[in-house]
Formats: sequence, structure tokens, C-alpha cells
Amino acid sequence: VADIERYTSLRVLFAAGAGVDQFDLSKIPESVALVRMVDDSLADIMAEFVVMSALALHREMPAYRVAQAAQVWEPLSILPAATSRVGVMGLGQLGQACLAQLRHLKFQLLGWNRSARQIDGVTTYTGPGELASFLSQCDILVNLLPLTDSTRGILNRETLAQLPRGAGLVNVGRGEHVVEADLLAALDAGQVGAAILDVFQQEPLPQAHPLWSHPQVWVTPHIASTMQVEGGAAVVAKNILRDLEGAELLHTVDRQAGY
Ligand code: NAP
Repeated sequence: VADIERYTSLRVLFAAGAGVDQFDLSKIPESVALVRMVDDSLADIMAEFVVMSALALHREMPAYRVAQAAQVWEPLSILPAATSRVGVMGLGQLGQACLAQLRHLKFQLLGWNRSARQIDGVTTYTGPGELASFLSQCDILVNLLPLTDSTRGILNRETLAQLPRGAGLVNVGRGEHVVEADLLAALDAGQVGAAILDVFQQEPLPQAHPLWSHPQVWVTPHIASTMQVEGGAAVVAKNILRDLEGAELLHTVDRQAGY
């Protein structure tokens, strides 16, 4: 935030997105609260994208796209969603909204989070100590973590190797969660079967980047979800009203945790 010190009366900054990693917290005075965007429609739209991605991976759409390009007619196995295990990393607003929708499709559901969570119909795992056993059961892994010092590079050679062979990956968190060179190697080795990637270390994804042309990768330009202006404005207005009434602001960023 450029020149923020100039705004001496500033008390609150409202982020227009769910993630706040674009802010350098050290540059925001302690007296200014930073508030994340938490909006139902943002969560609904994210859940739509994640359901679409989980189904595409479960029904092997990346493989059929490759087959179509080669005009190969080759049916693969047809199995119900209940035979696939979908794991979500990050059980916050968005992760939980996705799990609620995935549940309707009867996927087997798992979740991994920093603090313990109890979610109906979801087997949950907590903290770094349970990450490997969580990953080892994810046929489809969905990343919805915030980007912090503890989550940067969390999907790397070692953790990708903990997935079942041929697992699918959906990254809708942040590009920097994934060590892209390690993901490419895991895709080439068949350890990761296919990936649907919405976010990248560098955005826009550079022209020559190998992810653009990898046959088992679907690239989307950071469009998994976004705030809808009307809903977002209402959320901000409601929070300002709370503040005027002397109540605590909702969804303020914890500076220590970084999200
Ligand atoms: P949120 O409500 O703050 O939830 C974050 C969750 O991650 C919390 O449950 C938190 O656990 C967990 N977490 C944080 N650090 C962790 C760690 N080191 N290990 C394990 N779990 C950890 O955030 P949200 O609204 O769901 O949004 C999640 C992220 O989605 C955003 O930060 C953003 O990067 C991304 N996003 C992407 C798009 C897109 O279009 N691609 C759009 C919106 C958002 P605790 O509560 O226990 O700390």
C-alpha cells in the first residue's frame, strides 16, 4: 500500500479479495486494521469451480482431451464419485464451502487444517504431523490454504510424493504454494496424474512456461472465484456499521499468522 502513512486518519483497510498476501503487513501501521473479504457468493463461486474440477479429474477429462487431440476413441473406467477421495487443504470459509458442495456428489471427503476442525461427513487431519497421512489418502487434492511463511512451497517434491500415485491436483490457493518445477517432474513421472491450476508463481503465466503446454494440465487465469461487487459492498457496509456501533470488526487479519 503506497504512501499509507500519509493517511493519518485511516483506521481500517478492507481487502477486496479473500487472500491478503498481496499486502505487506509491515508497511501497514499497527493502528490500521486489515479486514479480509468474506462473502457468501465468493465462497459459492469457488465451490462451483472446485466441484467442476473434482468431477473433471474424477471423470478423467484431461486424458480425454489428449485422446481427442489424437482422435483416439478409448473409454476409460467409469466409476461413481463415491469411489474417489477428495482432500481439501485449508478448512476456512472457502474450504468448508467446497466440502459442503462436494458432499452432495458423495465423494469421500478429507480435510487438513492448522487447528482441529470437526465437519460432518469429513475426516479431518490437523497440523504438520498429520499432513503425510492426509496426503496419502487424497485421490484428488484441492489446495485452499492462505499464502503465509508456513504454507509457501508446501506442495513440493516430498509432499507430492506422499499422494497416491496418479492423484489429481486442483490449485486454487496461491501459485507460491506449489513448487512448479517439482509439480512438472511429478506430472512427467505420473506421480501426479493431472492438475487443474488457477494460480501461478508468476501471473500472467509467462508465455514459454512448460505448464501452458503440458498435456495433463489445465490452466485458468486466476478466475476460480471473485467477489461480486454488490455482495462485497454490503459486507463492507455491515462491518462499518458494526464498527460505528462499537462492536468488534469481523474478519480482521491476524498479523502474527499473516491471514
Ligand atoms: P480463511 O477463511 O482464512 O481460511 C484459511 C484456512 O487455512 C483456515 O482454516 C486456517 O486454519 C488454514 N491454515 C492457515 N495456515 C495453515 C497452515 N500452515 N497449515 C494448515 N492450515 C492452515 O481463508 P479463505 O477465505 O478460505 O481463503 C483461502 C485462500 O483461498 C485465500 O487465502 C486465497 O489465497 C485463496 N483464494 C483464491 C481465489 C482464486 O480465485 N483462485 C479466490 C479467493 C481466495 P486455522 O483457522 O486453524 O488457522
